[in-house]
Amino acid sequence: MKACVIHGARNLVVEDREVPIPAAHEVLLHLGAGGICGSDLHYYAEGGVGDFRLREPMILGHEGAGEVVGVGPAVTSVKTGDRVAVNPNHPCGVCSPCQTGRRNLCRNVRFFGSAARFPHVQGLFAEYFLAREENCHVIPAKISFRSAACAEPLAVALHALERAGPVLGRDVFVAGSGPIGVLIAAAARLAGAARICVTDLFPEPLAIARAMGATETIDIRANQEAVDAMIQRGGMFDVAFEASGHPAGLATAIEVAAPGATVVQVGMLPRGETAAPLNRLIARELRLVGTFRFGPEYERAVGMIVAQRLDPTPMLTHEFTFSSLSAAFAVAADKHQSMKVSLSPG
Ligand SMILES: [Zn+2]
Ligand SMILES: [Zn+2]
Repeated sequence: MKACVIHGARNLVVEDREVPIPAAHEVLLHLGAGGICGSDLHYYAEGGVGDFRLREPMILGHEGAGEVVGVGPAVTSVKTGDRVAVNPNHPCGVCSPCQTGRRNLCRNVRFFGSAARFPHVQGLFAEYFLAREENCHVIPAKISFRSAACAEPLAVALHALERAGPVLGRDVFVAGSGPIGVLIAAAARLAGAARICVTDLFPEPLAIARAMGATETIDIRANQEAVDAMIQRGGMFDVAFEASGHPAGLATAIEVAAPGATVVQVGMLPRGETAAPLNRLIARELRLVGTFRFGPEYERAVGMIVAQRLDPTPMLTHEFTFSSLSAAFAVAADKHQSMKVSLSPG
C-alpha cells in the first residue's frame, strides 16, 4: 500500500508499506479523506512541531475518516462497509490523568502521526491504517469523508471553548484565522457568544472566518489601528483565544482581554520560551490557560457534523491525491489560497 512518510524537514515521500493486520479489538480502515493540519506542515517545514522533533521516519496525518475494510475477531461496534470518522487519540486509560478524566493529558498516549513519543506513532495518511474500535465513529452516507475528517480540529476547538468556560452572551476574540481559529469562531457562535472578532495577517482566511461564524474580522496588516484602538480602551473581550501559534498573537490576546478575562493558548508556539506582556495578568487579573488536543469532545464534534449543526464546507478549500503530495503540502502552506487541504489515496 502507499503511505506518506516524512523523513525530515522537506523530505516527504510516498512509500510502499505492508497493509497492517488488525488485532482483536482493532479495525482496518481504507482512508477516505485526511486533512493536512498545521502540525503536519510544521513536521514538513521544520522536521518537528513545538518541542517534538522527528527522530525516525513517520507516516503523517491525524485527521481522517474512511471505510471499514476489516475487523479484528473481538470487534462488535463496527462492521465492514461502515463509514467512520477516526479519533486519532489513544490514551492508556490507566495513568493518573486518564483516571481523573483528563485523557487528553495521558502520560502514555498514542496519537496518530505524532513524534511526541519514541518510537513515533504512525499516522493515517496511508491507503490502509488501524484504529481501535472505540475510536471509530460511524457517519451516514450524506456526510463526506472530507467533512468528517474535520471532527478532529473541531474537537480541538470544542476543548478550547471548554477550557475557556461559558461564552453565552460574552465577547470573544480569536487571534489567528487558521482552521482551529475559524472552528473556535463557529463553535463560539453556536455557544451563544455575542461578539466574535477574528484577526489574521491575510484577508482570504478572514473571509472564511466570517462565513463560519465570526461577527467581525480584522486584517492586522491592513488595519493594525483597529487592534491598537481595542488595546487603548484597556481590553474589551471576556475570552481571548490565541490560535495563531505566534508570540505576537499571544501578546495581542493578552492586551485585548478585559479585566477578569480568560486567555486561552491554543496554537503551538515556537519551541523554547516565549515573551509576553505578563504584567497585564496581574493588573487585570487575567486567567491564562492552556488547552491540549481533546477528550470526549471528539465524539461531540462528530455529532455536530453529522447533525449538520456545524458545516465545515467553507474551510474545505482544496483536495489532492497522494500522487500530488508535494503540491498538496505547498498549497496547504500558502494561507493566501488554502484553509484545509484534504488528501486521499486516489
Ligand atoms: Zn490537527
Ligand atoms: Zn493514560
